[in-house]
Amino acid sequence: MTQLKYNTEALRKKDKDHFIHPFTDFSTFNKEGSLVMADSEDIYVRDSDGKKYIDGIGGLWCVNVDYGRKEIAQAMADQALELCFYTPFGHVTTPPAAELAAKLAELAPDTLNHVFYGCGGSVANDTAVRIAHFYFNQLGKTSKKKIISRIDGYHGSTYMTMSITGVKFDHIGFDQHEDLVHNISCPNPYRRPEGMSTEAFCDHLVQELEDKILELGPDNVALFFAEPILGAGGVIVPPQGYHKRTLDVCRKYDVLYVSDEVVTAFGRLGHFFASEDEFGIVPDMITCAKGLTSGYAALGATILSDKIYDVISVPQAEGSLFTHGFTYSGHPVSCAAALKNIEILEKESICQHAKNAGDYFEEELKSLASLPIIGDVRGKRFMICLESVANKETKELFPPKAAVGDRISKRCQKRGLIVRPLAHMNVLSPPLTMSKTQIDVLVSILRESIIETTHDLKEEGYL
Ligand code: PMP
Repeated sequence: MTQLKYNTEALRKKDKDHFIHPFTDFSTFNKEGSLVMADSEDIYVRDSDGKKYIDGIGGLWCVNVDYGRKEIAQAMADQALELCFYTPFGHVTTPPAAELAAKLAELAPDTLNHVFYGCGGSVANDTAVRIAHFYFNQLGKTSKKKIISRIDGYHGSTYMTMSITGVKFDHIGFDQHEDLVHNISCPNPYRRPEGMSTEAFCDHLVQELEDKILELGPDNVALFFAEPILGAGGVIVPPQGYHKRTLDVCRKYDVLYVSDEVVTAFGRLGHFFASEDEFGIVPDMITCAKGLTSGYAALGATILSDKIYDVISVPQAEGSLFTHGFTYSGHPVSCAAALKNIEILEKESICQHAKNAGDYFEEELKSLASLPIIGDVRGKRFMICLESVANKETKELFPPKAAVGDRISKRCQKRGLIVRPLAHMNVLSPPLTMSKTQIDVLVSILRESIIETTHDLKEEGYL
């Protein structure tokens, strides 16, 4: 890490006066302002005052290879000097865009061989909707438009993808495409109906999808959106068999299955893509972003099957075009970053490391479930959530004003660990290169912070 020379207060003032932050609680932001993150190395970040933290959230589920990788920075610089940009429209490509598309086709399951680029996860999912609608229009099935997604699924923040997102809290104050999007239940085994076995819960969820398709009419339903593990909704791992059975229902009614792997791809669960390798399904489309470049550049991709490509690539009428696209689709500098990132993931066997160290991470964090306020520790490998409860028997939550997730995160931050609060939950998604020793330090800070928080909650009469 370099010597930092920032004027933190001046930066915080400029930030507060002019930078509208994504997903911000303005009431606390106006009081507290921003933490200025300024520097990084390995699994650590450092703020503008020089305080060092373990980055327990990998930037935002995205720094999969770690920070400060000179090879990626060099590949980006070389590309920027050679050709910073050229239009991808029509019949023009660039070497990194073409190379990366072929590499993604090689890594993606089965016949998912065709790549459309955007700048992030939301755009990748928006593209999946536009392509599905175009696909069914081409087939003359023009009524197939509706989208089914799950409560607590997160799919992005454009108008369309926030409508598909099922985290109801994120909808407050904004409008939605309510006519197009329909939700089914969140597949959260921890919050399943009382007295219901996990197997019966899975049957119920699969039946609910089928019932929803029948209620809307199979001729009207285009897409089912699902993250293999729901991330921002609280790292929810659906019950065993759920993925395969929901895919079967989609196939039965000619509904396209979009696996949103914006978080789960590129090693987070120990595989390049989790859909097939972890959950045994080959969806019709996979969307990805984040770990694709490990956060070194903005890039997202929608990967389509041959079946879809073969339909959308045949012009319907003479002179008709596929008129979907962005100036920065396949940006050469971002594609160069992604190619180098994938090369590092392969060369250093980071997926294998994420299996070994990730299993250890999961196991150690799951041991925190013995603490009195931790009701559930769930997730897989380097994607974990801790859910705090006031009563472990009844799973009753603390009142929102107890802000338990926030308290735990603040305690961790003081001790040099960044952990993301999500209401009464805390999520972790660190860089995948963590060693067992680094994992031990992270877990010990988190444990101490939870113990201190429990003490505070008792003092204040919440327990
Ligand atoms: N899908 C999932 C599963 C995500 O977690 C996210 C972002 N956290 C998105 C889509 C949206 O990606 P972006 O913020 O890059 O638009």
